[in-house]
Amino acid sequence: MKINTDKNPYWTICLSCHGQGKIMRGPSRKRRRLFENELHEYEISSDASVAPKPPTANMDVCPLCVGSGLQSAEKAVPVDFKKYPNVAIIGGGIGGVALAVACLHRGIPFTLYERDESFSSRSQGYGLTLQQASKAVEGLGIFSLEGGLTSTRHVVYNPEGKIIGEWGLRKWGKTFLEQTSRRKNVHIARQTFRSLLLQQLGNSEPLRWGHKLTKLSSNQNGTVDLTFQVGEKQENAQADLVVGADGIRSVVRELLIGEQKSPLQYLGCIVVLGICPLKALGDTASLYLIRLRCFKQ
Ligand SMILES: Cc1cc2nc3c(=O)[nH]c(=O)nc-3n(C[C@H](O)[C@H](O)[C@H](O)COP(=O)(O)OP(=O)(O)OC[C@H]3O[C@@H](n4cnc5c(N)ncnc54)[C@H](O)[C@@H]3O)c2cc1C
Repeated sequence: MKINTDKNPYWTICLSCHGQGKIMRGPSRKRRRLFENELHEYEISSDASVAPKPPTANMDVCPLCVGSGLQSAEKAVPVDFKKYPNVAIIGGGIGGVALAVACLHRGIPFTLYERDESFSSRSQGYGLTLQQASKAVEGLGIFSLEGGLTSTRHVVYNPEGKIIGEWGLRKWGKTFLEQTSRRKNVHIARQTFRSLLLQQLGNSEPLRWGHKLTKLSSNQNGTVDLTFQVGEKQENAQADLVVGADGIRSVVRELLIGEQKSPLQYLGCIVVLGICPLKALGDTASLYLIRLRCFKQ
């Protein structure tokens, strides 16, 4: 899949909420008055033993960025090497790319190292269900999940075609329109979502494909030495901070903690997921897919 880098608007963090998406608002006048009354009662009462607690502040959605924590910018945020540590992100899966995007929007220096030669050198899984994630992805500069679908009925069959599990809005008798846009789960191909994230990075210099981390150690300067296998060669780099986003069999974790100390624990179940063409289901297609409906995002 080719990543479309034309769709690459610039973002910076919202100046009003400092990228939080929320702002602190003092307690309402009603709650303050209630507290004053309770406090007065407490002060004049002889038997009240527990003093009332003052009302706490509320967090409100930031009116400027409407909760995303971002504002559009005319150009990329300049990288601030003095203010922030130089971050090495190991692994360009969804976690690593999301962190890189967040650094980009904040001017935090980073380099993202991915062992795969390119975005499309393998398919990286098939689909993701983003659970009510629209607000979270807006915080990464993705305001439209192109290629995402909202389904209203989920059905699980056993190999004989018997339904063994079913859920979703239509199962519970609610209509699609009753749901607010925030509460929708979105199904999206993993690579589509990853490419939406990578679009944010554009043709970023700090994105290094074909770099497989093999060694890391802290040095006397207080920084970290990193060694990568790059094709036939070895390449060295340094960073102030290393983030291991290199998946379940993380090399960073192995090098820092070790498999023996904290081994992966098999939970006793295996999930096999896949996509097949509708035609491949033959006559059973209508049995499985009848009355299923999807809504394009
Ligand atoms: C079958 C299945 C279904 C799932 N369905 C969902 C779902 O519907 N919704 C959901 O939210 N989550 C789902 N998950 C969980 C989700 O896939 C993971 O939480 C997510 O992929 C973790 O992202 P990550 O970036 O941390 O790791 P990964 O996606 O595993 O990415 C790790 C990256 O690091 C790279 N890497 C590895 N070693 C090195 C190295 N030495 N040097 C450099 N790079 C390296 C890899 O090539 C890879 O690109 C599912 C998981 C599975 C297994």
